Amino acid sequence: MANQRAHVVVVPYPSQGHINPLLQFAKRLSSKGVKATLATTHYTVDTIHTQGVTIEPISDGFDQGGFSHAPNADIYLENFKTHGTKTLSDLIKKHKGTSSPVTCVIYDSFLIWALDVAREHGLVGASFFTNSATVCSIFCRASHGHFEVPLDPKQRPFSFPGLPVLEYEDLPNFLTSAEVYPAYRKMVFNQFSNVREADWVFGNSFEQLDGEALKAISSLWPAKLIGPMVPSFYLDGRIKCDKSYGAHLWTPIGIKCMDWLDQKPGGSVVYASFGSMAHMPPNQMEEVASALKECNKHFIWVVKESEQPKLPDKFLQSIDDDKGLVITWCSQLEVLAHQAVGCFVTHCGWNSTLEALSLGVPLVAVPQWTDQPTNAKQVRDIWGVGVRAKMDEEGIVRREDIKHCISEVMEGKKAEEIKKNTIKWKKLAKDAIDEGGSSDKNIEGFVGMLMKWKGEPTLCNGHGQT
Ligand code: UDP
Repeated sequence: MANQRAHVVVVPYPSQGHINPLLQFAKRLSSKGVKATLATTHYTVDTIHTQGVTIEPISDGFDQGGFSHAPNADIYLENFKTHGTKTLSDLIKKHKGTSSPVTCVIYDSFLIWALDVAREHGLVGASFFTNSATVCSIFCRASHGHFEVPLDPKQRPFSFPGLPVLEYEDLPNFLTSAEVYPAYRKMVFNQFSNVREADWVFGNSFEQLDGEALKAISSLWPAKLIGPMVPSFYLDGRIKCDKSYGAHLWTPIGIKCMDWLDQKPGGSVVYASFGSMAHMPPNQMEEVASALKECNKHFIWVVKESEQPKLPDKFLQSIDDDKGLVITWCSQLEVLAHQAVGCFVTHCGWNSTLEALSLGVPLVAVPQWTDQPTNAKQVRDIWGVGVRAKMDEEGIVRREDIKHCISEVMEGKKAEEIKKNTIKWKKLAKDAIDEGGSSDKNIEGFVGMLMKWKGEPTLCNGHGQT
């Protein structure tokens, strides 16, 4: 193996919020001399185009339509395990005997079966968690039975080692309700079932951001924080031509959006997006629509095609072109980086949160489900980079409150303090991934091991390394 390059196969869960950070990690490793292949499902393989990383298909059993063609989440996940195991194994076999056999499988922590595939072929196995360290630590404790789920609201507030005190509404909703998406809840808790058998564990966060959460749980979740996994152009600039992730499951409305933003004064536009997964109830859509219409600011609102039927009647016709744009998808990073954007009304998906932190954009948090309430808590109370809209008893955030939040972050008393904090976190995010930063050192440690690895599984155990 002497002259062979280390070769990682990176396997994301095939949704936008998972492909993006794992693909970014593949690019980062490639920029450090490792050969990187992204193995993704047939349905998503053609949506990814990037330099430095080879894209190859594996199967989830639904090659024509992916998740949307599966009868339910349980069946989808079961099929992905069966077909993914076989096709990932075939992919590894295909590279055997070539000049670059696979050395390591880096798999999305949702796909625990990929560690068995790595083992079967005698390869290094590395699990990649796409949530914050804080949220991973809560899920990890839940999966180890440190508390009973669902949590009893009467026990509030909740305190976990290494974490800020959390109110009931700050917790991931997998912990507060047994009914929400049981298949996903099971998968999220299962991520930890074999994590200590993985050679390496990675988390998409950075030490300064929520490293304390990791320290308090490192014996159960021995992760290295390697984030933020955001294209290099916006951070350290060390990866050439790395301005976008290079993956879009939907077609971005590009030129129109950027031309429109170019016409607007600095910091005058509200950018609103609730990510790739959110399905808002129609009455919540109506509140957001009214808030954007009435808020006295320009806006861009991403409403995916599948969600557009829920827009209030005649809403689109009632907005003149200069006031606002409703688009089906965009290059979010390009929009967030535009000088015209003054705030981001967001569901607080972890990638969106990291992107805003990395680019220094103030946030209005409107969390919907899973980890988003916890991210929103940190955005407002720990990192001080935004405000959080309040839900009423019906679980709806009303227009008046959204308008109030927008004005608070863009021009209110808190705006100056929030702006100062966004500048601080933008710098810390860059420092973490830049040469010699905490995340960079962790990545370098991993690459150093890969370069030296000669095939003995125990040599590469990253647990407990500094
Ligand atoms: N995104 C995008 N264009 C859009 C909306 C979202 O490129 O119009 C990207 C965004 O930059 C982020 C990802 O989609 O990287 C969404 O991930 P996140 O974790 O924020 O939310 P999820 O979609 O998983 O709920």
